[in-house]
Amino acid sequence: MVTEPFHVLRLGYRKGRDPRITTHLALVSRALGATHFKLAGDEDEDMFSNVRSVNERFGGSMECEHLSGAMGWLKRFTQRDAGDGEPGVAVHLTMYGEPYREAIPRIRRDRPVVVVVGGAKVPPEAFEYAHYNVAVGNQPHSEVAALALFMEAWFGEGGAQRTFPDARLVIEPSARGKNVHDKERQKENK
Ligand code: SAM
Repeated sequence: MVTEPFHVLRLGYRKGRDPRITTHLALVSRALGATHFKLAGDEDEDMFSNVRSVNERFGGSMECEHLSGAMGWLKRFTQRDAGDGEPGVAVHLTMYGEPYREAIPRIRRDRPVVVVVGGAKVPPEAFEYAHYNVAVGNQPHSEVAALALFMEAWFGEGGAQRTFPDARLVIEPSARGKNVHDKERQKENK
């Protein structure tokens, strides 16, 4: 099955304050099926290399990229070119939005999607350019929780059970203890 690109755009990153939560956003994006993680605000190569190191061990190929003009990128993505010369779909996660489970069935799936996640401040253009402003409950909480719940609903049950065919380390689900297969080591021992 060919799936459309799924981007997560994190706005307003502050290198001094946000690395841990933003790394969690990137890891949730990767684990639940995003193909691209875009960072607006400060640049942070160290954070991207942490995510790449998870890709190297646990597989997957989510690409990380810093955007210097995020609102310009979002405008272009939604109005002109989502990477293939046609507009894509933008979903902005905000506690002010409409209920996400009601919005999801109306969102087209035959175009690339970007899910926009706010930071300390959210520029008004995020609301304007987004086709959907959706809330995961109308209470303030966490961008990581909002993204995870949205992606689980978008990709369907079991989305969090995703495995990557090129993984070196594969975790065998276990009710007790840790069970990890290292494919490289198994090859060496053959
Ligand atoms: N102060 C920011 C503002 O001006 O709106 C919001 C800060 S909040 C911790 C960071 C991000 O988490 C939000 O921009 C939004 O993307 C996400 N978020 C928090 N609560 C949410 C909710 N109930 N539904 C959807 N997204 C939520």
